[in-house]
Amino acid sequence: MNSQTEHSTTSTWQTRLRSLWPRRIGWRLALGFGVLVALMLVALAQASFQIHHITQMTQRFATGDMQRLLRVQALSLQTEGVGSALVRLMNAPREHRVMEYTEVDERNRRIDGIIESLEQDLMGTEQEETLKRLIASRKVYADAFIATVDEVEADDLKAATQALNEQVNPALKAMLLQSNSLLQDERQRIETQLAQAQQAFERVAMWVGGLSVLAVFLSVWLGLGTTQSVTVPLAELEAAARRIAEGDYASRVPTTSAEEVDRVGQALNSMTDAVVQREQQIVRLAYQDALTGLPNRTALLSPATPPSTPYNCLALMDMARLKVINETLGHTTGDAMIKEMARRASAVFQAAVAAGEIGPHPIVARLTGGIFAAGFSVTSREAVQTLHERIEQALVVPASCGVHSVDLSLVYGFADGGPQTSAQPVETLMRNAEVALHSAKRAASGFAWYNEAQEAARLSHLSLVSDLRVAVASSQLQMWLQPKFSLKTGRAVGAEALVRWQHPQRGFVSPAEFVPFAEQTGYISMVTTWMLDQALRTLAAWAPTHPELSIAVNMSTRDLGDPEFIGRVSQLIALHGVDPKRLRLEVVESGLMDDPQRSVAVLHALRNLGCGLSIDDFGTGYSSLAYLQKLPVSELKIDRSFVDGIDRLPGTQRLFKTMVEMGHGMGLMVTAEGVETEAEKETITRLDCDVVQGYLTSRPLHGAALQAWFEGLPPAQGAAAG
Ligand code: C2E
Ligand code: CA
Ligand code: CA
Repeated sequence: MNSQTEHSTTSTWQTRLRSLWPRRIGWRLALGFGVLVALMLVALAQASFQIHHITQMTQRFATGDMQRLLRVQALSLQTEGVGSALVRLMNAPREHRVMEYTEVDERNRRIDGIIESLEQDLMGTEQEETLKRLIASRKVYADAFIATVDEVEADDLKAATQALNEQVNPALKAMLLQSNSLLQDERQRIETQLAQAQQAFERVAMWVGGLSVLAVFLSVWLGLGTTQSVTVPLAELEAAARRIAEGDYASRVPTTSAEEVDRVGQALNSMTDAVVQREQQIVRLAYQDALTGLPNRTALLSPATPPSTPYNCLALMDMARLKVINETLGHTTGDAMIKEMARRASAVFQAAVAAGEIGPHPIVARLTGGIFAAGFSVTSREAVQTLHERIEQALVVPASCGVHSVDLSLVYGFADGGPQTSAQPVETLMRNAEVALHSAKRAASGFAWYNEAQEAARLSHLSLVSDLRVAVASSQLQMWLQPKFSLKTGRAVGAEALVRWQHPQRGFVSPAEFVPFAEQTGYISMVTTWMLDQALRTLAAWAPTHPELSIAVNMSTRDLGDPEFIGRVSQLIALHGVDPKRLRLEVVESGLMDDPQRSVAVLHALRNLGCGLSIDDFGTGYSSLAYLQKLPVSELKIDRSFVDGIDRLPGTQRLFKTMVEMGHGMGLMVTAEGVETEAEKETITRLDCDVVQGYLTSRPLHGAALQAWFEGLPPAQGAAAG
């Protein structure tokens, strides 16, 4: 047999042996110790059996064999003794014979006694024959003895000696021979028995010794086996646990040879699964928006989730009017709208990928509130335009939530890597998209691109703004007035003053273009002061014929923070001698929130001067209803975006209605801005709106047109309104 086959035989033998080994450590221990205990019991039983056997043998030896030996020995002695006693008897004088007779008789009786007892003992043994011969010799001796005694009594010493020598002595000799033979036998027997006892002892010693050695070997083997069968699987378990601790969750605890360890292993495996699940959940929570299930800002910006191609375009999309939806229809509806928006936007991006308009793997995330961001790859801005149209298309159908159906609309800010549409770090795209979104909101244009031209425009605006000081001084500015009409009476209630700038080089500059930058630089307070002066002057001119008309001047956030503003307003009112309630001041809702505390204080001071106050662009800001209730305002101007197409949008109608009710609930006059069609006007009238302002009823007017309008007004009816 070569070493290889030898090895394989050994290993199959080992496998077979291992298959006999129980799978449970408990059973292994029980088996190991059970075998040891059984071995010990066998050794104990064997030892006690042998000891019992030896005891019995010793006892038999002490009680039977030894005594018999002594008796046989005594027989020889007596036999010898009777011979010499007989000699003494023959030679003793007559008077001494009685004593000698007694001794001889005594010895004879003893001999008989011994023979009798031996007869019983040796019945059926090998010595029985010898004894029989001895008994026969005894008989011969008895007869010879009597004959000898007769001669002695007849005082025939010669005949007596002859009888002794010829009859008694041979008989005694034969008896002695036979008793000696018996003695020999007995000695033999005892020696044999002693040898047997010795053997029995040795056997016991061998048994106990052998069993002990076996037990020692077995204990060592079982001990090693059991220890190994526990430590090896435990070591495997430990290694697996360490791998899991290092984050290798794919590594499973292997099945070992021990059932108990396996159970721990299984528990460890299910623990790992639970940890994996929980970790996934944590990652999900960290990277996923809980409301929509979309990725969150972290996921969008995180390099942990790289797109297969870097984005070169980012769209920021802000849900318009979410604040109002939350305030009026409740946050549940607001949340439902966000979810619906998420669903539709995601679907559009998927469709755009499928149509090949944008690159694969766009990421659509929700940032905060109603602001979504989408990172994607495009080859041209036309593709973004198509995407924009797709999204707008997806928002045509109003979203329904329970009884409400709400129109969804978005304001977009797009940013890309410039004309080359190269890839950009997502942070840069995000910052630029924010700028774009901001400018889209400011221009009320719905969407805007961020680009370098925009940046250049911003710089040019800055130079423009520095021209503003000159503009104010050299009367490049104009005040245009857009009339407002009561929907209840149809009469004019006043007008909003809108600034216009006729730039000597640039021509007409829209306020939407320069007002935000004038605000940023602080030049706006000059504009406001100029407009207040113009408005009060006009009011003073109107007073004799139309004291019911008011003029509203737009206040900027800067004015709210200007400590001299209130004093200036008060001075101008006094200068023109106008009833302060005919002057209204409009403040945009979002502008209030920069410093809410201070805004409330300034508005109270203005109110105390007697001016009327209006919340402008209502519905686009984020102020809470609770905060608005604190303001001493008397008019709510609902933003143009709610009015646009309202006749076709039942959801918007409901929103509008709620806003009107809310305004009325707070005791405010409600004005709708930007009404352009008859249908819109009809709808807002039905929805209980108080005042209308828009191109339908009148465009902003100036100069001759304003004069014509004013002169065409019906005469005043009592006190000023609005
Ligand atoms: P605003 O205060 O919401 O003013 C209303 C704007 O809506 C005006 O634009 C007006 O011409 C326009 N408008 C009125 N009716 C309609 C309509 O039916 N359809 C449409 N599409 N638009 C309509 P304008 O004059 O271009 O002013 C834009 C913004 O510039 C104003 O919005 C206001 O925020 C700011 N602004 C204008 N004048 C001044 C001013 O004197 N001071 C300050 N601080 N801001 C001003
Ligand atoms: Ca306004
Ligand atoms: Ca407005």
